[in-house]
Amino acid sequence: MRRLPQHIVLHVTTRCDLRCRTCFVEKGGRDLSLDDARTIAGKVGRVRWLDIGGGEPFLHPNLLEICGLFNPRDLTIPTNGQRPEKIEAAVRALRANMRGAVTIAVSLDGFAGANDALRGVGAFDRAMGTFKRIRGISGISVKVNTVVCAANIGVLPEFAAHVRDMGADYHSLLLLRGRPADSQLALPPVVELREMFEKVRPVLASYAFQKGRHPFMARLLHSAQQEMLALSMRVLQEDRAAFPCRAPWVHRVIYPDGSVAMCELMPCCGNLLSEDLDSVDARISRAFGRHESEHGACFCTHNCNMAENMMFHPQTMGRVLLGALKRRKPEFAPGEKTGDGA
Ligand code: SF4
Ligand code: SF4
Repeated sequence: MRRLPQHIVLHVTTRCDLRCRTCFVEKGGRDLSLDDARTIAGKVGRVRWLDIGGGEPFLHPNLLEICGLFNPRDLTIPTNGQRPEKIEAAVRALRANMRGAVTIAVSLDGFAGANDALRGVGAFDRAMGTFKRIRGISGISVKVNTVVCAANIGVLPEFAAHVRDMGADYHSLLLLRGRPADSQLALPPVVELREMFEKVRPVLASYAFQKGRHPFMARLLHSAQQEMLALSMRVLQEDRAAFPCRAPWVHRVIYPDGSVAMCELMPCCGNLLSEDLDSVDARISRAFGRHESEHGACFCTHNCNMAENMMFHPQTMGRVLLGALKRRKPEFAPGEKTGDGA
């Protein structure tokens, strides 16, 4: 498994200039130092996909240098977009210095009213300012990340169409997860989620999956996206795993103090500043075994983990392939329940 493509989520800071009601990460004043980043990069070796996390990554003064230490094939940086000029300058520098693909994901949870009720007054206008500035930079992908919850689900079909018109390269709809800062926030019932996804999936399907790819690969990606939406609904409705989770082998979340977890919802199992990768990996593997023997097969609906797990599940990949060949649309299972197994 270690030779397979790896996905590292590297949290470079715990600082953030927003206090979103949906946020499940612990905030503070800690930045990953350059020296510690160098140590971590030396231990994890080749990284296919580096996903930067935070806090707000663009508050880190050495973001460019840290990304350069890992030199990934794909680099994704989410941003709350609250400092348009500073972020534009940093993205231009990243594009000039990184060899691989660069994707910037701007967080927007709806139009101004819905977004600012969740993220704070004025957050929408500032994030839109960032989107417009970085959309003009050639050679990068710009997408929008939206956290779906009961408070914004009503606006999402219209907002998804708006994001498409804004010229985003993609729009990720991420179901609320973990323990949000506002404990009153929750996912809507599955029946409402299903209705919303039925409305937005033609919009999501209209994004240019073929960008620089073979036409059949574009159809495969499109089919995988539709399958993932259907599987997320099934997981929530049935309240159980759709396939085994491979996070302990293909996914690592690293925090600014060097501690490591198998995913963002699980506790840390070691520290890369004081241990080597093999011993952290062994600890993660044992912790996951214990978790599953106590609680049963673990499941969640986080897009990144769903996508990785789908790749290692032959039946699911068979359906994805069939969908690409026949242009078949997967059915959304009907149901009423909500829930997250983690
Ligand atoms: S969700 Fe992101 S932008 Fe919002 S408070 Fe949390 S870390 Fe900051
Ligand atoms: S199923 Fe989700 S919560 Fe459980 S280990 Fe995998 S990624 Fe983490």
